[in-house]
This record gives sequence, structure tokens and C-alpha cells, in this order.
Amino acid sequence: EIINVANLSRVLGVRIEQIIQTMEELDMGSTSHDRMLNSDESSLIAMQLDMNPVVDSRQSLDLFPRPPTEDTSKLPGRPPIVTIMGHVDHGKTTLLDTLRQTSVAAGEAGGITQHIGAFSVQLPSKKQITFLDTPGHAAFSSMRARGAQVTDIIVLVVAADDGVMPQTQEAIQHAHNSGVPLVVAINKCDKPGVDSSKVKQELARYNVHLEEIGGDVPCVEVSGLTGLNLDQLEETISTLSEVLELKAERNAGAEGVVIESQMEKGRGNVATVLVRSGTLKVGSVVVAGQTWCKIRSMTDHTGKSIKEALPGTPVKVIGWKEVPHAGDEMLPSPDENTAKTVVDNRLARQQRDQQLRDLEVINDKRRAQREQLEQEPTHTCTNTNLPRESELNCFGHPGDVSGTVEAVVDCLNGLQNKLIKVKVVQSGVGNITEGDVLLAAACEGQVIGFNVKADKKIQAEASRHGVNVRSYSVIYKLLEEVKDQLSDMLPPIV
Ligand code: GDP
Repeated sequence: EIINVANLSRVLGVRIEQIIQTMEELDMGSTSHDRMLNSDESSLIAMQLDMNPVVDSRQSLDLFPRPPTEDTSKLPGRPPIVTIMGHVDHGKTTLLDTLRQTSVAAGEAGGITQHIGAFSVQLPSKKQITFLDTPGHAAFSSMRARGAQVTDIIVLVVAADDGVMPQTQEAIQHAHNSGVPLVVAINKCDKPGVDSSKVKQELARYNVHLEEIGGDVPCVEVSGLTGLNLDQLEETISTLSEVLELKAERNAGAEGVVIESQMEKGRGNVATVLVRSGTLKVGSVVVAGQTWCKIRSMTDHTGKSIKEALPGTPVKVIGWKEVPHAGDEMLPSPDENTAKTVVDNRLARQQRDQQLRDLEVINDKRRAQREQLEQEPTHTCTNTNLPRESELNCFGHPGDVSGTVEAVVDCLNGLQNKLIKVKVVQSGVGNITEGDVLLAAACEGQVIGFNVKADKKIQAEASRHGVNVRSYSVIYKLLEEVKDQLSDMLPPIV
């Protein structure tokens, strides 16, 4: 049984920094993420972390990504994977539609555009670019929330007649936070009288420094509607991707990410997978999340049946036992039996984790009750009778003006005591967005609005993710209801 440091951290559910610190305490030599550890070494680390390791090859069987190749210079290149972002109505969908049409026109005659979550275009130079098909930040956030970083380049669409708007800023923030390089597409340049130089100056104020003024961000003036300069946009993306030296192993089982999935009549469970390395082949066995697949057939974004998919290619995969989730990591399995065991183990592990969490809550409650009895023998019910360190994750989105936001956040924080606390994960001004809902879902929180509304689409999104969204216009009502929630977290009185 051999495992590398990064994967041991995953198996034990312990942060990699902590594993490394433990290895240093144990004086184990190299602590690089891909250092291989044998079962004795892994057990030692686990014991040092107060765990009780049992090395059982079947029970612990799981699949892990290949450690990164040290010398990538000999590996073949792969197409860049691009996400389009920008403010609503700045033309993301139109741009994607036009790009997708050219991709089909260049492919087989009679090909029909299919919405499979991503598509590839081929440049006259024969180079390829893969575009993720869901515009906007929700897709990006939900992938990142699940730890899957698939985007190599972000195309930031800014309408020339509208300039930098809130979601433009949000996209810039995403790019800066994730370190994914930007290409700016100033859109709607077909409109008479538009002045792109104004947009460029605005961008500089948000730390987007364009090449033409000595920065490192390329910029193209386009029209998604007429197709103006889209070839130049593609060339720019391609040039940037060369600088990024995107390379991937081909001679191996395929690793990838699920970007879209559903049940389809007549086809069963299907999922679009973006291959990141290796070659995906019909007949091979893969695992993603808590399901697996012996690949029955595959189609590309034009609906054409294919036998193999190379890195950087999106492909619709048919033959899943269950529908995998978008963002699930797909890994190759040597055979069906291994895939089954791995999925069983993952399910069992999840169940065990849940039981452990439940147990922790019960223990916390007991401890708190004991403490209370010791400290305050005459009181049976006070606010201190709460599980230690309980957190009510709130995701405030209050406010017409930022002063209000601060006021509401302060009030919420004021509700905490030494045993329970309200955690405001993020707050901001403006209407509740899809991004808020996704972030709330990722941290098992809720969205609280003050003097703002959530429209039907947001509400639908929220109920799909099981996220509670509430809006208030009276601060006292807001605080009352949050207090009620806190008391619901109280253990029963004995
Ligand atoms: P999204 O919300 O960013 O996806 O924006 P859409 O693609 O839905 O476009 C919003 C509106 O702008 C639609 O009415 C489009 O027809 C229009 N539009 C999009 N791109 C262009 C363009 O390049 N030029 C012009 N004149 N209009 C555009």
C-alpha cells in the first residue's frame, strides 16, 4: 500500500499543512506533496495525529489522481479551457452562440449544435480552444466550491456601451483570486459611436492592465452579434495558451471533471466530462464522485459518435450507473470490480463521517450540559446551555447602502456568546445573486437580505440547493428570527 502525501491528506481528511508538520515532527525527511509513503509511514503519521489506522487494502481502496509529472517538457500540448464571464446583457450568450456555430460549420457537414456544457473550436492553424458553455460566474463558483479548477483562461466580456459594471468587477475578482489569466473582449463594437477607450481606462482602475498600455492583459474589440474580430479573439486566446504551456499526458487512463450531467430518455445517465489528462476510450471504466461507468458510447458537441477523447476535449459519456454531479473528479479504474469497491468505500466513508459528526454534536451537548450543571447548579435553562462552538453560518446580503450593511453585520455578530456564534461569511450591497446562493450552499449557510429582494430565479436556485433565503425590511424582525434559529440549535433541556 503506497500513497503520496497529498492523497494521504485526503484520505485522513487532514489539511496537508498539518500532515507536513507531523512529518517534520517525526523527522521523516522530504515533505513534498508527491513524496510516496508506505503503509508503515502513513500509519505512523496517522497515529501521531491521534488516529487509529487500520491498513486494509480493500476497505481503504480508492482512486487518486496521478502525481504531476516532473518533466513536462516532453508532453504534448493540450487545448486551453476557457470560461466566459461578464456583466448580464453584455453579450456572453451571444458570443458563445456565434463561437459554437463557427465550430460546427468548420466540422462535419450537417452537424447540429448540441448543448453539452462545453464545445471546442478549431482555428485555421489547427489549434483548438475549448469553451465552457455556461456563461457567468455561477458555473465557475460551483466548480471552485467543489475544488475543481478547470478554467485556464477567463474571457472577460465588457460591453463597449456600458463599461465596467458590478458583475464585471466580480469576474475580475474571480480571476485575481484564482490566478487565472484574463483576456478582455470589449463587445458590441459594431454599435455606432461606441468608445472603447473609455472602457479601457475604467478597467485600469480595477487593476486590469491591458497590453496596449504596458500591462499583461490582452484585449480585443469584438462583436458577438456580427462576428467582428472573433477570429482575432481566438488567436489571442491561443497565443496566451502557448505562453501558459498547457501540457498533458496522453498515454494513460483519462482523468477529468464532470461539467454537466442528466438522465436522458433512451440513453440513461449521461455526463459531459472534460478530459484533463490521459485518453478516454469507449469500453474503459471510470469513477466519478459516488458512481462509476463502463463507457458504452461517447459523443462530441456536434453529436458525432467518437471512440476516443484527448485532453482538453469535452465529451458526453454514456453508461453511468447513477448520475454523477457537476464538479466531480473523474478518475480511471483498472476494472469494474475496483470501481464498485471504490464507490462502496466512498459511500461508507461518507456515512461514517456523518455518524462521527452526529456523535460530536451529541458529545458537545453533553459536555455543555455538564459544564452548566457544575457552574450554575440552580439554573436549568440559560443561553449558556448550548453546544460549544456551534456556528450558524449566515450569508448576509443586506442593504441598499454600505452603511446599512455594516450595521446589520454588527448586529448579527452581536448575537454570539461564548458557546454559539453567528458567522457572516460574506456581505455586500445590492440584490441577492446566484453567486451568493452558491457560496451559501458551499458553506452550508443561508442568505439574509435587508431591504433587497430575491427574484424567482434566485429562489428556484436556492431551493434546488436547499439554501434558505430570507429578506427583511425591519432590522428587529431580522434579529428576532436569527435568535429563534439560534435557540433551535439549543440542546433539549434536562
Ligand atoms: P448575456 O446576458 O451576457 O449572456 O448577454 P446576451 O448575449 O443575452 O446579450 C444581451 C443583449 O445584447 C441581446 O439583446 C443581444 O442581442 C445584444 N448583444 C449581444 N452581443 C452584441 C453585440 O456584439 N452587438 C450588439 N449590437 N448587440 C449585442
